[in-house]
Amino acid sequence: MGKEMLTRDELDFLKIQGLTTADVYDGRGQSSATWKAGVRAAGKTVVLGTPCSSKGHRLRTRSGHCAQCDTAKLSYQKRHNSEGYIYIAGSKSAKLLKVGTCVDIEQRRKNLRYQTYGGISDWEMLFTAKVDAGGKVEGDALSRLSKFKVVRMYDKDGKKQEAAEMLKTCFSVALAAVQESLKGVKATEIRKALKTVDYEFRS
Ligand SMILES: [Zn+2]
Repeated sequence: MGKEMLTRDELDFLKIQGLTTADVYDGRGQSSATWKAGVRAAGKTVVLGTPCSSKGHRLRTRSGHCAQCDTAKLSYQKRHNSEGYIYIAGSKSAKLLKVGTCVDIEQRRKNLRYQTYGGISDWEMLFTAKVDAGGKVEGDALSRLSKFKVVRMYDKDGKKQEAAEMLKTCFSVALAAVQESLKGVKATEIRKALKTVDYEFRS
């Protein structure tokens, strides 16, 4: 986006973070779901959006945290979007799938299970591939699968959790979308679970 759209403070912030205006996605006037998908699909790092409640900063991370109040959020995102794995996880009990990115596959599997992501505890990794820009592949795959998206609020330790985004479709459909998104991307360590037939959910 153009320099003139940003304030001096914002330009300074970008410079300190090793970013340029080319790393900014203009999400102004868009719904949160729209810019969250948009910033990933565009492969941008930060979003120009609604001002943060504490200081009125406008630059946000891909997940919506104020990038300027807490730069640790941006550091986390950098790690998340550098090298990592794109994955498809599935739950037999809920008949749902999830597409996401992670740095450590086994750790993510445990986190999904023990933190009962979406209120579900039988998550299993069905497909994983190591990629350079996981966030971009994830955003691309999720936009292909958007009509299957389901959002659930769930309880964790008696507290309402943020809505979990999952997919109500069968494994082969999710896999086809992820593989399409992997075209032209350098992917290594591609692994598929042996028993995916149990995740071909038929409604
Ligand atoms: Zn802020």
